[in-house]
Amino acid sequence: MSKRDYYEILGVAKSASDADIKKAYRALAVKYHPDKNPGDAAAEEKFKEAAEAYSVLSDAQKRASYDRFGHQGVGAGAGGFDPGFSNFDDIFDMFGFGDMFGGRGQRRSTVQRGSDLRFDLQITLEDAATGKDEKLRIPRLENCDDCDGKGSEKGTEPETCVSCGGAGQTRYSQGFFSVMRTCPNCSGSGRIIKTPCKACRGNGRVEREKTIEIKIPAGVETGSRLRITGEGESGVGGGPSGDLYVVLHVKEHERFERQGADLYTAVPVTFAQAALGAELKVQTLDGEEDLKIPGGTQSGTVFRIKGHGMPNLGGRGKGDLFVAATLVTPKSLTKEQRKLLEQLAEIETHDLEDESFMDKVRNIFG
Ligand SMILES: [Zn+2]
Ligand SMILES: [Zn+2]
Repeated sequence: MSKRDYYEILGVAKSASDADIKKAYRALAVKYHPDKNPGDAAAEEKFKEAAEAYSVLSDAQKRASYDRFGHQGVGAGAGGFDPGFSNFDDIFDMFGFGDMFGGRGQRRSTVQRGSDLRFDLQITLEDAATGKDEKLRIPRLENCDDCDGKGSEKGTEPETCVSCGGAGQTRYSQGFFSVMRTCPNCSGSGRIIKTPCKACRGNGRVEREKTIEIKIPAGVETGSRLRITGEGESGVGGGPSGDLYVVLHVKEHERFERQGADLYTAVPVTFAQAALGAELKVQTLDGEEDLKIPGGTQSGTVFRIKGHGMPNLGGRGKGDLFVAATLVTPKSLTKEQRKLLEQLAEIETHDLEDESFMDKVRNIFG
């Protein structure tokens, strides 16, 4: 399914400032808010779409990734983005909408989506080129099995907080608005646990290490993020789990420099090879390739080996490998080599001071 461009959704230019993005989103959020458009599925879709666009474009890192990779860059996992109800509330709290639309405060007090987790993973350039299945061991909060996440010892139930009647928030007036405040008696949970579960000390969640298998697609680079839906921390009170974001860091390679999908490397050549032409072996990421250089090759001349760069992320084709032929002067000579070079020096007639040579001199000292 193709997704609309986030800038298009918010109706802003690609160069829009954070303030413009926030303003555009706020206008859309008010217009399409489900409470203002009850039963209107199209409006709800628009609302979600705007929330998704905003969640990406309001985050500098996510925005940069989106600008570079499009939708792929901000959610390589299957399925789309679903802001969930807790996110609606967060977004509205952020804007100071407070209780403007009424009734929302109660929902978050008992049900909360689990936190998203970030995991930084270092991989080699070879792994980035081929893609890789990786097992991650991730410590995270999971629902406590002993109490089913309730936090109350088996056989007992949490009691409803009398201060807020279980809502988790109390209401007070401020100017025109009626404002909700977290209930101090129950810290917003709406429940009081008299006999806490021993396994989780009443938290309802325990820290556990889980092994998660992920597929790193070929072509990723440093900063690429993989989103694994539902593998973040468990929600509270039966709320949905958060997501796991794996942020990739590709190690520097001793032989190759990477620029986008292209790779750069150097191959040493002797004077004789450069002067006479030669067939060289060039190390590529996945093996060896033959490279023919013509007679008269200058040091630093770059040759291209097509299709031996990195694969394009999620796309077809590969970049190229650029090879700089680098003249290497021998540091020691055998007797025979010295003799031959001396003979060569005697008969050398070539005028080195041609125009291109002087250009090089100017480049070095200019
Ligand atoms: Zn427990
Ligand atoms: Zn309370």
